Amino acid sequence: MEKNFSVDRIVGNAPIQEKGRIILEQREIFDSQEFSELVDLERDKTAEEIRVIEEIDGELNADRQARDLPVLHILPKNIHIIPQDKWPNQGNNVNTDGLFDPKFECIMLKENWLSPIGFHHRMYHEMRHMQSFVTLQVDVIPLVEEERRNPITTHRLSLEYHRIGLMICERIIHRNFNTRSYFTEINEGLVEELAMRNTLLHVHDPVHAKEQETTRQALIYLEQHADEFNNILNRIEDIFYLEEYEIASQKNLRGHVFTYQNERLIFNTIIDKLYETNTEKFENREEVFQFFVDVADSESMLPLGRLIEETFGKGAFRRIGREEPIGQKLAFVNSL
Ligand SMILES: [Zn+2]
Repeated sequence: MEKNFSVDRIVGNAPIQEKGRIILEQREIFDSQEFSELVDLERDKTAEEIRVIEEIDGELNADRQARDLPVLHILPKNIHIIPQDKWPNQGNNVNTDGLFDPKFECIMLKENWLSPIGFHHRMYHEMRHMQSFVTLQVDVIPLVEEERRNPITTHRLSLEYHRIGLMICERIIHRNFNTRSYFTEINEGLVEELAMRNTLLHVHDPVHAKEQETTRQALIYLEQHADEFNNILNRIEDIFYLEEYEIASQKNLRGHVFTYQNERLIFNTIIDKLYETNTEKFENREEVFQFFVDVADSESMLPLGRLIEETFGKGAFRRIGREEPIGQKLAFVNSL
């Protein structure tokens, strides 16, 4: 089984023929990847970057095949690398270093890594989003009087993303669109955990020997001067190599950090608590983790909802999903 674009399903109130047309368009967009907006922004990928993309693609698909999921090859052309100074700081792009956009069947990465392993990590994270279960929502929106350009156009179509992995977007359809996202934390927590696992395997590849050596030396130095570098040593688990290292000046001691710390904490706390109370259902903690992986890649989130409600009580699933400040979500998850 093979699929040739990221979208798995189209939901929304649009007629079936519109949905069919959009599926065909998605396939074309996946194949052509020609966006006039990107021409002046993106740069060519290096041979090494292409190698990394193909390597990750191979690993992701081997994992999909082992779980009887259709193969989806994300090709180097579906990845667009944009130098930092050209990154459009607007809309969805503000405060992000990269994103997967299902509507455009592509990944955009802001070029702000300083070594190849940093690229590998960032690339895996976005490619894993693209590999998870994706739905688009197509709705017919009635136009109000002043929006009508001519008397026959009474409606317009809106196309938005609806689900990516464990995250669901709900659109409140009226004149001004309103969007709420659910389960963003556990979605990012899961994807970053997977990206960490993969990156920590590849950090030992010969191609990253230089970073390994720098990091080894830096860690020795940090341990010896623990009093000066407490703030770094506290986060050492998240720093898997140091990108910039100037011992002499003690400046620019900067590591590449795995992201979404709070989201991972929320995600891992839920897993721990689910495992604690369901030892008869799961052989080990990893099985609970894999359960989340499978739900993120499948059409229905109901099995996850059921497990969470059975474990933590009615309403817990919605409560975990709801949009709220991260501190509040963390406090709730800890109270479970
Ligand atoms: Zn992400």
